[in-house]
Amino acid sequence: MDLPHEPALRAIGTTAADFERDLVSNLYFERGTTMESASTQDVYQSLAVTVRDRLVDRRARTATAHQAANPRCVYYLSAEYMLGRQLRQNLLYTGTEDVARDVLKGLGLSLEEVADYDVEPGLGNGGLGRLAACLLDALATADIPAVGYGIRYDLGLFRQTIVDGAQVERPDDWAFDGSPWEFPQQDDRQPVGFYGRVVEVAGRRRWIPEETVLGEPSHLLVPGYGTQTVNIVRLWRARADSDAFDLADFAAGRSAEAVQEVVRSENISKVLYPADSTEFGRELRLKQQYFLVSCAVWDIVRRFHLRNSDWAAFADKNVIQLNDTHPALAVPELMRLLIDEYELDWDTAWSITRGTFAYTCHTLLPEALETWPVALFERLLPRHLEIVYAINQAHLDEIESRFPGDVELRRRLSLIQEEPERRVRMAHLAVVGSHAVNGVAGLHTRLLTETTLADFARLWPDRFRNVTNGISPRRFVRLANPRLAALISEQLGGDGWLTDLGRLAALAPLADDADFQRRWRAVKRDNKLDLAGYARAATGVRIDPDALVDVHVKRFHEYKRQLLKLLHVVTLHDRLRADPRTDVPRTVVFAGKAAPGYHAVKRIIQLINAVAAVVNADPAVAGRLRVVFLPDYNVSRAELIVPAADLSEQISLAGKEASGTGNMKLALNGAVTIGTLDGANIELRERVGADNFFLFGLDAAQAAEMRRGDYRPGELARADPELAAALDAIAGGRYGAGFGDVLDSVLGRDEYLTVADYRSYLDAQDAVAAAWSDPDRWTRMSILNAASCGFFSADRTVADYRDRIWRADPVRVPPR
Ligand SMILES: *Cc1c(COP(=O)(O)O)cnc(C)c1O
Repeated sequence: MDLPHEPALRAIGTTAADFERDLVSNLYFERGTTMESASTQDVYQSLAVTVRDRLVDRRARTATAHQAANPRCVYYLSAEYMLGRQLRQNLLYTGTEDVARDVLKGLGLSLEEVADYDVEPGLGNGGLGRLAACLLDALATADIPAVGYGIRYDLGLFRQTIVDGAQVERPDDWAFDGSPWEFPQQDDRQPVGFYGRVVEVAGRRRWIPEETVLGEPSHLLVPGYGTQTVNIVRLWRARADSDAFDLADFAAGRSAEAVQEVVRSENISKVLYPADSTEFGRELRLKQQYFLVSCAVWDIVRRFHLRNSDWAAFADKNVIQLNDTHPALAVPELMRLLIDEYELDWDTAWSITRGTFAYTCHTLLPEALETWPVALFERLLPRHLEIVYAINQAHLDEIESRFPGDVELRRRLSLIQEEPERRVRMAHLAVVGSHAVNGVAGLHTRLLTETTLADFARLWPDRFRNVTNGISPRRFVRLANPRLAALISEQLGGDGWLTDLGRLAALAPLADDADFQRRWRAVKRDNKLDLAGYARAATGVRIDPDALVDVHVKRFHEYKRQLLKLLHVVTLHDRLRADPRTDVPRTVVFAGKAAPGYHAVKRIIQLINAVAAVVNADPAVAGRLRVVFLPDYNVSRAELIVPAADLSEQISLAGKEASGTGNMKLALNGAVTIGTLDGANIELRERVGADNFFLFGLDAAQAAEMRRGDYRPGELARADPELAAALDAIAGGRYGAGFGDVLDSVLGRDEYLTVADYRSYLDAQDAVAAAWSDPDRWTRMSILNAASCGFFSADRTVADYRDRIWRADPVRVPPR
C-alpha cells in the first residue's frame, strides 16, 4: 500500500544494519550525542525511538485502513491503564528483539541493562487497569479498530516504599526522565467546562460553565501481536490556558497567587484516585471523571464526523465500553452534546446513547458502588444533573408502566438515592444508559443478577451477560517468562500458542514425562533464582530456590484476606518452633499496595513485615520458613514474581472477588492454586481439574448464610488451639508490641470470615505440603495447570466481547 507522501522511510527495516543505522542516527538527531559519548539513558531513549518508529509506520497504515473501511470502532473508557513497560513488548511485537540485542552487543551493551531504564507508566492501580491493558493488547491482536481513553496522570497512584515496616507513599513521577512512548498532541486541545449555570436560549437549555480547563491529548501506541494493526490509547492531561498565569501577581512578588489558577486546573490530572477523605479530594475526583468523559466523548464524536454525516449511523459505528462506573458520566455527556449542541430531540438522542454504551461491572461490594452527593453534582455539572433527572423520570415511568404501584421498586431502581442524603447512583446510571451490562466471571455475573443488580436483571434480563476476564499470554508468558515460552515453543513446534492459547492442551500428555518434567522444573528454578536476586537486593532477604515459593500478591484489601495467609505463617512458625521438621521448606512472598486511607490493611502490611523480621531471624526455623514483602507491586514486579511462583494464593472470601486475573497469570505460569470458590477460581478449577487445585473454605452461599446467622468468631477462634495460639502470639507481642488492633477486625465482626475459614485453609495447606514433598506429583500438577489455561487468554475474552456485545469486525492492515 502506498501512503500519499512516503517519508524518507529510514524507519522500517528490520535488519541489523537498518537498526544500527537508525539507532546511531537517533542518538545524533534526537539526543544530540554520539555513540562515543552517549550515556546508557541516551542509548535507551534512542533505542526506544528506533523501535517506536517501526510502530509509527504501522500506525499510519492502520489509520489509513480504518479510514477506508469506516468500520465499527470499540472505544474503551477507563480511569486506569496498567500497561507495563513498553520497550521489551515493542521489540517483541516488531520482531526486532534479536536484532536489537546483537546491535547493542556490538556497542558493548546488553539489552537487559538498557531495558532497565524503561519505566512503567503509572496510570493504574490493580486488576481493573491491567484488564484494560490486556484487552487493548488482544483487540489489536484481533485487528479490531479500538481506542482506549484515559487520563494521563502526572504521578499515577503512588510508589510504595516500606519504612520501619510500614507503607510510605511517594509520588510516582514515572515520566520524570521523559517518556519516549508518548506522542503529545498539543494542537488537539479541547476545552472542558465546570460549574456555572444553565440558561434558556431560543427554547433550548444551554450550559454556561464558569471554569474551563484544557484537555491535552497524547497517545501511546498499542500494537497487535503477529499483525500489522497498531491501535492507540489516548490519554488526556489537564492544562490551564496560557493566560492563566497572573503576570501582575508575579511581578508584585506574589508567586503563589500567580500560579493559583494554573495549579487548580492542572491538579485534575495530577494523581490517580485523589484521597476522598476531604471535600477537596471528592470534588477533584468527580472533576477528573467528567474531564475524562468530556474529552473522550468529544473525540469520539469528532472521529465519527470525519467519516460519517448521519447521526442515525452513530450507534452502528461506535460502541463505548465503560470500564466500571468511573466513566459513567459519559452517558449524560453524550446526551448533552446531542441535545444541546447538535439539537437532536430527546428520543433520538436517547436511542443513540443507549445503543452506543455498554457497561462492565467489576464489583459486588456494596460499598464499592459509586455515588455522588446531588449537591456536589449540581454545583459542578448543573446541566448534567438536569439530564440525569430527565433520564430518571423516563426510567421511573417505564417501571411504573410495567410494575404499576410498586413504589418500593421505583425507589430501589432510581438513579437517585434519597436517604440518608440525596446522591446520584453511578452504577444505576451506567445500567440504564447501556444496552449491555456484563460481569467478569461466571459466579460474579450470577451474583450480580441475583443480588447487587437483581431488580435490573428482572426489568431487563436480556441486557445482562457474562464475559470472563482474561490475560495476555504475550505479556504474562512470552515477556515475563521467556524460559517457559521457549520450552513450550520447542515442545509445540512454534509459537502459534501465543495467539491460540488452547494449543497448550497439547502439553497435558507430557505431564508425566520424566524428561519434560525435569526441564519444566529447571525453568522454574532459574526463575526463582532471578526472583531471589531481586529480593536480596530489594529487601536483604534470601530466597532458597529449592523451597516452595508461596505467593500472595495483589492489592491489599480485607476481602482478599492477606491476614488469613499471615495467620497461616504464624501457625507454621509455632509448629516449627515445636518441631523443626514440620511442613516443607517454604518462602512466603507478599506484595501489594494499600489505599493510602485504608488504615486497617496498612496495619496488616506492618504486621507482615514484623512477622517477617522475627521469623527470618529465628534459628528455630532456619531454612524452613522465610517471609518477604516485596515493595511497590506493579506489572514489572508481577512479571518477576509470577514466573517464580509454585503456589498461588487466591483466598478471598467467596462471593467477594469479582474475577481476579492474578489467579490466571499464576496458573498459566505453572503455579498451583490454593483457593476458595470465588470469582474466576471456579472456572479455573473446572479446567485444571479438582485434583490439581487446593480447594478450601465456605462457598458464596454458605458465606452469606453464615453472615446472616449467629456467627461468633471470638468463640470459634478460642475453640481452635492453633488459631488461638497464633492470635495470642500476635497479641502477646511476639512480633512486636501493639499489634492487638490488627486482630480486632477478626475477633469483632470478622466481616470476611477469616476465623470461619482458618481450619479448612490450614488443612488445604497441609495437603499442599504433602503434594510438594513428591516432586513428580507436584510437577505434574504444575504442567497440567499451565496446559489447561487456554480459556483464560484475553484473546478469548475479546472474542466473547466481540460476539456478545461489540459486534465489531476486524480490519486487516496490509503489510508494506
Ligand atoms: C494482575 C494484576 C493485578 C490483579 O491481581 P488480582 O490477584 O486479580 O487481584 C493487580 N496488580 C497487578 C500489577 C497485576 O499485574
